[in-house]
Amino acid sequence: MSNDNTSIHEFDLQLISEYFSHVERQGPGSPEMTIKAAGFIDHLTGDSQIADLGCGTGGQTRVLAQHIPGQITGLDLFPLFINLFNKNAEKVNLQHRVKGIVGSMDALPFQEHTLDLIWSEGAIYNIGFERGLNEWRRYLKQDGYVAVTEATWFTEERPDEISRFWEAYPEIDTIPNKVAQMQKAGYLPVAVFVLPENCWTEHFFAPQVEAQAVFLKQYEGNKAAEAFVGYMRHEAQLYAKYKAYYGYVFYIGKKL
Ligand code: SAH
Repeated sequence: MSNDNTSIHEFDLQLISEYFSHVERQGPGSPEMTIKAAGFIDHLTGDSQIADLGCGTGGQTRVLAQHIPGQITGLDLFPLFINLFNKNAEKVNLQHRVKGIVGSMDALPFQEHTLDLIWSEGAIYNIGFERGLNEWRRYLKQDGYVAVTEATWFTEERPDEISRFWEAYPEIDTIPNKVAQMQKAGYLPVAVFVLPENCWTEHFFAPQVEAQAVFLKQYEGNKAAEAFVGYMRHEAQLYAKYKAYYGYVFYIGKKL
């Protein structure tokens, strides 16, 4: 079973994607916060080109598509997620505006200066916040926007237990430092807001409880699967205990 020193990087990616294919969202967030963030993006039209990087199965992409105009390309490393993404888009009749493709956020298949908006909820950590902002900028048109969520410390100091857990992602930092990184990468930080607790509890952890039962049945006797569920439960417990010290924050920037 998992212990305090286990890092997410020790689990098999196939297993992780299988686990998360059972839930609507693969990271903390909510439809309300996606809509709120979308409210800061202006000048979009039916011709706008938008990319949702690390889109997962597309929970947030569909909400976005229902609230802004334009063509959205969802990109994710895992074919399993992209299959579900495209099926889900079709179910709600968005297949003409929303398309999922398999790819990596560190080798984007877009032309430079062609995107009006780059969206990425709970995923930029895979390439790193600073690197992602720097590398993605060239794909944006002048005045294009980037909107990402990122794990963030709320305080200058925090208890050892939660610091150790986050050692797996050393780029977690405070809001002022993240905003400075965004500015340095060549964006005007136009909005920053903290995701409320229900983005974790109601929209991220609660749906996993049922998914864990299905997953454990599917992988009965599989130690790695049991350990992964143990890790995710541990993450939920740590959040309950230390939510005053960290959370997810939306960072929205306009290309300068
Ligand atoms: N945006 C979704 C998923 C967040 S989970 C949501 O908010 O629910 C992070 C996602 O990043 C996963 O779907 C994972 O498959 C994807 N990912 C990980 N590394 C990636 C990479 N190098 N390129 C593209 N996607 C990646």
